[in-house]
Amino acid sequence: MQTNFTLAQLADPGTNAAEKVLRTCVHCGFCTATCPTYVLLGDELDSPRGRIYLIKDMLENSRPATPEVVKHIDRCLSCLSCMSTCPSGVHYMHLVDHARLHIEKTYKRPLFDRIQWGALGYLIPRPRLFRLAMQSSRLARPFARFLPGRIRASLALAPAKLPPSSILDRPQVFKSEIQRSRRVALLSGCAQQVLAPEINQATIRLLTRHGCEVVIADGVGCCGAINHHRGRDGHSYARRNILAWSREINNGGLDAIVINTSGCGTTVKDYGFMFRDDPDISERARIVSSLAKDITEVMSEIGLQAPANPSRRRVAYHSACSMQHGQGIREQPKQLLKNAGFIVLDPPESHLCCGSAGTYNLMQPGIATQLRDRKIANIHSTSPDLIAAGNIGCITQISTGTALPAVHTVELLDWATGGPRPAAVPA
Ligand code: SF4
Ligand code: SF4
Repeated sequence: MQTNFTLAQLADPGTNAAEKVLRTCVHCGFCTATCPTYVLLGDELDSPRGRIYLIKDMLENSRPATPEVVKHIDRCLSCLSCMSTCPSGVHYMHLVDHARLHIEKTYKRPLFDRIQWGALGYLIPRPRLFRLAMQSSRLARPFARFLPGRIRASLALAPAKLPPSSILDRPQVFKSEIQRSRRVALLSGCAQQVLAPEINQATIRLLTRHGCEVVIADGVGCCGAINHHRGRDGHSYARRNILAWSREINNGGLDAIVINTSGCGTTVKDYGFMFRDDPDISERARIVSSLAKDITEVMSEIGLQAPANPSRRRVAYHSACSMQHGQGIREQPKQLLKNAGFIVLDPPESHLCCGSAGTYNLMQPGIATQLRDRKIANIHSTSPDLIAAGNIGCITQISTGTALPAVHTVELLDWATGGPRPAAVPA
C-alpha cells in the first residue's frame, strides 16, 4: 500500500513503525473472511482491511481520532486472526496498538467510559485490589438488572465465590522433584492468581515433576497487556518484569520464562519490540522475549512422562487467539493432551475468538456474547466431556455460557501425570 507520510511524521518511532506495517498491506481482503467482527457485522469498516484504511487516514493526516474511528477500532478484538490469514505478513498487532495509543492521546471518551477503562486498568494488574473488587461485586449482584449493560457484564463474569489466594504465587524457588534439567521462571500473573490459583499450582507441580527448578522472581507482576493493548501505559509493568527477570538471569540463570496465560505470553514475547528504541533496556527486553515460552512449548521440549492416570475423557480443545494467532502455537497443546491419554476434539471454526479478548467482554458485551454463544455451540457439536484452554480469559468467558467444566490444559497434564483431579472435573 502506498503511503504519504512526511519526514517529520516519520521521525516519530511509533509512526515510523506503523508506516512500515501499512506498506506491507496489498488490500487483497483475504483477512476479512476470518475476522470475527466482519463475520458478525458484515461492515467493511469492522474488518481488518477497513480498519487499516481508517488508521492510515488518521495517521497520515495527523488527525485526532473521530468517534467513527474509535467505534470501529474499539470493536476490534485484537484477536489477530487477520495476522494468521494475511499472505503479506501485515503485523496488524503493532499497527492497532499504535492506533490505540493515538486514540488515547487525541480523543476524549465519555465520562463513564473513562471511569470504567481507568478502573479496569488500575485494578486488574493489582491482585489484592482486584480480589477486593471481585468480592465487593457480590453486593451489587441483586441489583444487576437495574444497572447499565457493561456493569451487568462485569458482574456476570465475576465468580460467585473466589478461591483463597495461594502462597505459591509469592516470590520463592521450587526445587525439582528429580535431577534438575532446567531452571525456569514462572510468570505468576495478576488476574489469574485471583480467579484460578489452581492453574499456577498445577503448573509448578508439572514442571518440578519433570525436572525443572521453578522460580517466582521477586518484583514480577502483571505483564502490562491489559493496559498496553488499550493504548495506555503497559511499559511500566513490562519494565519492572524485565528488570526482575534480568536479575534472575544474572544470578541463577534461566533456561526459559514460562507463561501459562497465552494473552500474557504474546505480550512478553513482544517486549523486545516494545523497548526497541530504549537503549537503557532494549537488550534485556530482547533477551526476556527470547526466553519467553508458553507452558505447552516447554512441556513439548521436555516430553511428557507416561500418564499415571490416563483418563479417556473427551476434551474439546479451545485454542485461545493469543495462543494460535498471537504466538503461532497450534499443535503442541493438543499433542500433549493426546499423550496424556485424553481424546482431543477440534471444534469447528476454531480460528474464531470466544469474545473474551482481555477486557473486550466487559467493554463490548453485545458482540462478546454473540461470539461466546457461537463458540459454545461449536464446542457442544463435538459432544465433549470437558473443555481445555490455555488462557484464563477464555476459560472464564466460556464458563459463563455452558455447564461443561472448562479447565486449563496444564491442569489436565498435571492430573494425568500424578497431580490431583481438577476440582471442576467430576470424578
Ligand atoms: S484483530 Fe481480530 S477483530 Fe481485529 S481486525 Fe484482526 S481479525 Fe478482526
Ligand atoms: S490479508 Fe493482509 S494484505 Fe490482504 S488486506 Fe488483509 S491485511 Fe492487507
